[in-house]
Formats: sequence, C-alpha cells, structure tokens
Amino acid sequence: MLDAFDRCRLHDDFRPVTELGAYPYYRPVEERLATGEVVVGGRVLVAAGSNDYLGLSADPRLKDAACRAIRSLGTGTSGSRLVNGSLALHETLEGRLAAFLGQEAAMVTPTGFLANLALSALAGPRDTVLADQLIHASLIDAVRLSRARLRRYRHNDLDHLERLLAGSDPAAAGLIVTEGMFSTTGTLCDLPGTAALARRHGARLVLDGAHDIGLLGPGGRGAAEHHGLLPAVDLHTMAFSKCLGTTGGAVAGPEQIMVYLRHHARSMVFSAALSPSSTAAALAALDIVETEPERRHRALAAAARLRADLAGLGFGTGASPTTIIPVHVGDVVLCCRLWRELFEEGVFATAMVPPGVPDGQSLIRVSTTALHTDAQLDRIASAFAAAGRRLGMIP
Ligand code: PMP
Repeated sequence: MLDAFDRCRLHDDFRPVTELGAYPYYRPVEERLATGEVVVGGRVLVAAGSNDYLGLSADPRLKDAACRAIRSLGTGTSGSRLVNGSLALHETLEGRLAAFLGQEAAMVTPTGFLANLALSALAGPRDTVLADQLIHASLIDAVRLSRARLRRYRHNDLDHLERLLAGSDPAAAGLIVTEGMFSTTGTLCDLPGTAALARRHGARLVLDGAHDIGLLGPGGRGAAEHHGLLPAVDLHTMAFSKCLGTTGGAVAGPEQIMVYLRHHARSMVFSAALSPSSTAAALAALDIVETEPERRHRALAAAARLRADLAGLGFGTGASPTTIIPVHVGDVVLCCRLWRELFEEGVFATAMVPPGVPDGQSLIRVSTTALHTDAQLDRIASAFAAAGRRLGMIP
C-alpha cells in the first residue's frame, strides 16, 4: 500500500513564505485586552482581523454570566443534547433566538460549523442544492455529507442562479444556500432577488447569518432584517463566535424542521452539547445586542472610516458596506509578506490565501469592531501605508 502520510506535506506549499519568515497562521494570542488589543509574542498589537465585531468576547458581563454558569452547571455537558447533555439554559437560549429571528424554533449546536453541517440532514442524493460560489466551507461540507447535487452560482449572480434553477430536475427537492454577509469579501447577499427566485422555483431558502446576525438590521437581526426580509428566510443558521463573542451555533426555523434535525442531524446527535459557559455568554450577548445598538453602529462607522483611508492610500478594498474590508493583493507570497510587514508594524490582520479564497485572489482581511478607537484605526492605516510602500504596492 502507499503510505497515507506521504500526502501530508502542507509545509511544501508554504515553504516560500516560511523562508521569508512570513507564515501567517497559528500565531498564539497570549492575552486579550479590554481595549480590543491582543498580546502576541509579548507585543501588544491592534487586532484588525477579528470577528468579534461588537467587542463582546472580553466584556465583563459575558465573563460573569459564563462564570455563574460554570459554578452551577460545571465546565462540560457530559454528552450530546439527545441523551444527557441538554440544559434548561440551552432551551432558554433557543427560545430567545427563535423569537429574535422571527422563527418558530431554534436548535443550539456546539459550533457554527456544526450548525451548518446539520443541514446535511435536509437533503439526499436525489436533491439539488444551489449555492453561492463564496459560501463557507461548512455549508459545502453539509452538501457533501448529504450527497445531494451541488450546483454553485457565481457570487450574487442571479441570472446564473436562475439558469441553474431552470435546468434543475423538477422532481428533485431544492435548497438555495447563501450567506447574509460574506465572510471574506464583506459583501451582502442580494437577498431580495435570491428570495424571489427561491419562491418562483419552489426552492427553500437557507441563510447563514454567521457574520451579520448581531451586526446588521435595525434590531441587529442580520442581513435579512436589513433587507426587510426576515419572513422570506426558511431556515437561518448562525455562529456565536462573531457578534456574540463566544462559541456555539444555532439553526432557526419551523418547529417541525427543528424536531427533525434534533433527531437526524449527525452534528447534533453525535457531538457533546454546547458548554454551560458559552451558552450563558451567548444569552448575555443577546441581551446586549438587543439593548446597545450603538455597538453595531460604531463597528460599521469604524469600517467606513478605515475603508476610505485604505482606499485613499491606493489599496483595492472592494465595495463592501460592512465591517469586513478585503484588501486585495492577488499573489499568495506578496499577501503573506504584507501580513508580516503589518505584524511588524503592530497590526494583527488576517491573510486569506487559497483554498480560503479563489486562486490568484489572496487578500488581507481587515475587520473593525465596536472597540476600535479612532487612534487605533489610524494606527492600522499608517501600518498599511508603511508596509505597502516598503513592498512597492502603493505610491
Ligand atoms: N459560517 C460562516 C459564514 C463562517 O464564516 C464561519 C466561521 N468563520 C462559520 C459558519 C463557522 O462558525 P464557527 O467558527 O463558529 O464554527
């Protein structure tokens, strides 16, 4: 037989950047400061790639709620929800999330990834899933697990989606899967057009609100609320690891579907339930989302300011209207070198290279949070100015 370990040569892919000292991944954070800064390698850096858009992961109210839950319920859940891991606290959170998103019911999962993976129970080999080209890996894995036919349409290209729908087997059940706010580009889904196509062709619409629930919409209910289309979403998924400042995930939808998923979704049935501390932290975060809209306004205003500054320096930043600013680089090595120069300048951003983005479209993903001060935003912009000039990327 061939040696299965022979294929594990990931580092060959990264050798060019490793040799330049520009390998950008698995950098351990030693401390998270209340200012939103992080300590890495003993240095205080401005966090510029975090998904903690509302700045809640180090909020004392979340920490207190988590500590109280640990004191009364312990640190683990001892089993999956199906058997002995269900807590009254999970059900409280599920009720709150369902009401928040205008759905009948919700199901809390150990991570956002596993919430999406649960969707695999909704489709089978004869079904068709139509998905935006930029959807998250967890949604692709859900389709693979379901063995349904996956048909991907170009990002937000509704003509392409319509052609795929028109060419789909009318005897197949159909799901359209997309994201409210796309995680690498920060772009919003064309939800009005997508929802209209779903209705016209009888397909169910599944929306991953991982990045936008808590951030967008007048009540923080996400991209669907932003478009005035919460009722058009058949099934909503979300992750607590972004706006809710903790870990965990949820699916929200009709009661009948939640009962089905609770018994058929492998990620629900075969994985230990969300910890008491994360469940309590998510509840505390939801209270803050509902009462402190200024946090989302600040995070979005910070992004608008930083995007204008970076574009003014000559970087290609796309046109996202959200807290995610993709700084387009293209080449993998140049992208990692820019990441390293920023790191040296005291800015901890995120390098996104294939397969996380399409080939030739590597980028530095910058994101803003409610905690960023104007001084920190200026620091990020001047780090980009210095780094970009050193690398000859901007004048
Ligand atoms: N959906 C999207 C769009 C994501 O970006 C992510 C994580 N980055 C997830 C789902 C998975 O969430 P989690 O990290 O909480 O498992």
